Amino acid sequence: MSQSKPCMFCFAERGSNIRRSAEHLLSRPVARAFGIDRDNGEVSRFSGDRRNSTVRLNGLKRKSVCVACNNGWMNQLEQAMPNVAAWFFAGDRSLDEGLNLTLRKWLLTRHLLLCEIDGNTANFGDVDELEEDYVVPPSSLARAVYEDTVDAIAGAPIALGRSSADLDFAWAFGHPAVRPEGRPQLGRFAATSGLTMREFQAWVTTPIIFDYEIYAPPELQLCVPGLRAEDLERRPGIPRSTDLTVAFRGVEETAAAIDRLASMSESEIRAISGGSTT
Ligand SMILES: [Zn+2]
Repeated sequence: MSQSKPCMFCFAERGSNIRRSAEHLLSRPVARAFGIDRDNGEVSRFSGDRRNSTVRLNGLKRKSVCVACNNGWMNQLEQAMPNVAAWFFAGDRSLDEGLNLTLRKWLLTRHLLLCEIDGNTANFGDVDELEEDYVVPPSSLARAVYEDTVDAIAGAPIALGRSSADLDFAWAFGHPAVRPEGRPQLGRFAATSGLTMREFQAWVTTPIIFDYEIYAPPELQLCVPGLRAEDLERRPGIPRSTDLTVAFRGVEETAAAIDRLASMSESEIRAISGGSTT
């Protein structure tokens, strides 16, 4: 057992009462607010082109966080989410700064849980088919969410859409499409998740290491203050992590620099590092 593994947010030891702190991927207040029957609703997990499995919503939990986080700030976040649902269902209301941060923070916690669960070959509930390659977890972002760092939360690439796939609750997790196209392993550096709650759909991608640009389907809108839910266009089809494309910048230059270093003689390396060659 991995009882000594620290909390993924505050890094405190989770301790022996970890059993009580299983974090649900979809909490009761959020399910209720978005019109999802958590006791009987179905969850769809998609990977590639097919539905991997359907499980009960109540079974979706993971012991990844400590009791203090789960019962403290994370619980407050869950309790604030019905206000976001009210914004979504009203349609013509502008997303205000506070709700924008609440929604973003909640989505980031779901994304980070999925990184931990799907991205590191652990299982979630009774889902045991894992086909996706691992991802490098965006650990500094987890810390920023815990510390409530507004710049990190407001600046994370998050887009919203409106699903017409008629799903209770679904998620897609994995690698985005990447550029340069010849380096698919770069996907490990951009964990990507899509979360569907009835009509509400959200996308999170967290590229790390390199500079990047993100390309999203035209129906998606960046999650920013002022956004109105009625401006979200319907998106057909099941969600896939490859719906987003992350174009990394500077990858070829970095690879070329490493190749160049590897082929240098010792004296050349001394010369560029300022050492004497005599
Ligand atoms: Zn914690």
